Amino acid sequence: MKAQMKKLIASTLMLAGVTSTANAAEEVNVYSYRQPTLIEPLFAGFTEETGIKVNVVFAKKGLAERLVNEGANSPADLVFTVDIGRLNEVVEKGVVQAVQSETLENNIPAQYRDPKGEWFGLTLRTRSIYASKDRVNLDDIKNYEDLADPMWKGKICTRSGKHAYNLALFASMIAHHGEADTEKWLEGVKANLARKPQGNDRAQVKAIKEGVCDLSLGNNYYFGKMINNPDQKAWADAVTLTFPNQDNRGTHVNISGMALTKASPNKANAIKLMEYLTETKAQTMYAEDNYEYPVKPGVAPSALVASWGSFKADELPLSEIANLRKTAAKLVDKVGFDQ
Ligand code: FE
Repeated sequence: MKAQMKKLIASTLMLAGVTSTANAAEEVNVYSYRQPTLIEPLFAGFTEETGIKVNVVFAKKGLAERLVNEGANSPADLVFTVDIGRLNEVVEKGVVQAVQSETLENNIPAQYRDPKGEWFGLTLRTRSIYASKDRVNLDDIKNYEDLADPMWKGKICTRSGKHAYNLALFASMIAHHGEADTEKWLEGVKANLARKPQGNDRAQVKAIKEGVCDLSLGNNYYFGKMINNPDQKAWADAVTLTFPNQDNRGTHVNISGMALTKASPNKANAIKLMEYLTETKAQTMYAEDNYEYPVKPGVAPSALVASWGSFKADELPLSEIANLRKTAAKLVDKVGFDQ
């Protein structure tokens, strides 16, 4: 009896599988490096509105390789990830295709999407400077350039210079100042480090709280995460989140984003989902979930994020940053930043 039951369940499951394949046109398959809690509510909203089901595969790494291995047989339609570096990776691996969409072009400012349409930003995050409330006069640290000032000797903490978040910032420095001046700047920042680069962005704020250093580099959303984590709130309370370069070019901003896969079997529905995510309702939800900024102009961030103040963003296109990442990595090695 038991075995029969099992058999019945198995065949029912197989039938369900067949049915969903037959209805493939009403599905979208997503490969996501982003956490389920961030994107599942958005996909639920999309399904409610359109009747199109969204299937998600989450992974911390390896999705780009998986797309390469699956090739033309890949079931994936869309890739979701953070950072221009990882979006650029799927482009370089040749596993995505261009999308032309008026909705996407209207909702996403040009600097936050690929000129060829191979990737699109969905949310924005600043690479901010966190400063000790007790020990730093904010007038002394208004620009990224100031991080190289000898007055900060032994006062700066950061994660690895090779991390995607830092590489993008360093690439923006190269775009604005050239390679030679950026090398000098990186040498200066390295000379000011309180310790060998290590840990994540939050670990640096903890170090400020503990008096190890006075300044750190970190993405803005970690401020929200620390404020709402009882174990980390004291770290956040010890710092001010600053937006560098407000009197000149603006703060460096990176994105989380999406791309349509080359093999996409449900292309029309996938583009519908892409467009849905850039509309005001989804933009509000997506940015709020992770203390980020909506990419669509005019959509307000959450009350908490808004309370940190508004800022001017650097208008350098992220496609240029993508092109300069390798040069940035070379400089990090050359000055021995992580040594
Ligand atoms: Fe992060």
